[in-house]
Amino acid sequence: ERIISSQMSMEDEPMEFSLRPRFLDDYIGQSRVKENLKIYIEAAKMRRESLDHVLLYGPPGLGKTTLSYIIANELGVNLRTTSGPAIERPGDLAAILTNLQQGDLLFIDEIHRLNRSVEEVLYPAMEDFALDIVIGKGPSARSVRLDLPPFTLVGATTRAGSLSSPLRDRFGVMSRLEYYTEEELTWIVTRAADLLQVTVRAEGAQEIACRARGTPRVANRLLKRVRDFVQVKGDGVITRETAQDALDRIQVDKLGLDQVDHKLLRSIMDHFRGGPVGLETLAATIGEEAHTVEDVYEPYLLQIGFLQRTPRGRMVTPRCYQHFGVEMPG
Ligand code: ADP
Repeated sequence: ERIISSQMSMEDEPMEFSLRPRFLDDYIGQSRVKENLKIYIEAAKMRRESLDHVLLYGPPGLGKTTLSYIIANELGVNLRTTSGPAIERPGDLAAILTNLQQGDLLFIDEIHRLNRSVEEVLYPAMEDFALDIVIGKGPSARSVRLDLPPFTLVGATTRAGSLSSPLRDRFGVMSRLEYYTEEELTWIVTRAADLLQVTVRAEGAQEIACRARGTPRVANRLLKRVRDFVQVKGDGVITRETAQDALDRIQVDKLGLDQVDHKLLRSIMDHFRGGPVGLETLAATIGEEAHTVEDVYEPYLLQIGFLQRTPRGRMVTPRCYQHFGVEMPG
């Protein structure tokens, strides 16, 4: 388990729950998404209607689940949460839908992983607040329509592109979450430290923020580890020095790269003269599956401009050489 992973782990769960902002005003960053949502929520409340269905998309750990809790709080309605893979059969979804109350919010995480037969139940539910049920079999089968209370679906996905177009078209609001700036993450760390009752100096928070890969989940996890170090080895205060020391010990460098990132980048520099090297070859060199390299290791390295995908394979950039203090081959 990599400490800089943006995927949620079991260990994160209790902390994530307690650190989650409850209202839009405590939700740091994503200002455009927030401002739009504020207006839609206000308008829905004024008209006493349910909010339009909302699709939140973007990389893991950026606050999609958090935002759905906030929307429910702001609307003053109940939230029911589930996920694409958890709803196996159409009947599972029908059971959830018929239990909703007027105005409730249904959150479906990883909505791109719903299977087709379940998705088809969702279409009339989203569009007409109706459930079509087939009774009987063969020639005597007939369909009856059940009314559902108006509700709001909030779907979250890391891959908006994998959503079928009939599903995508039924969302009135689509919001993309972006990576956070260092300044925003510094705020997030400061707020979280406050909730965890640990003293953090501004430079200490910033030190954690710049290694958090633009992701609040990673920032909170790093903060928790740094807190362990300062409480056991120091005086309990997170300063620039104590944060640096702790993060160096857990081997997360100045840009948030860990040993796995180092191994991947070094192998391109040391064994392939900086590339290009094919994905399969690269994966084999570091003993990983190609799809793991592509889905898990590469995105952040591409984002910070250390790695490039070219038609002939992966290449590291001059910026990467610079970071490692290695001379580029002539
Ligand atoms: P996602 O659903 O996109 O994977 P989460 O909503 O679970 O991400 O967010 C992960 C954690 O990061 C949350 O528990 C919360 O503590 C923190 N977090 C996310 N977004 C924000 C934000 N805008 N402000 C403060 N904390 C945030």
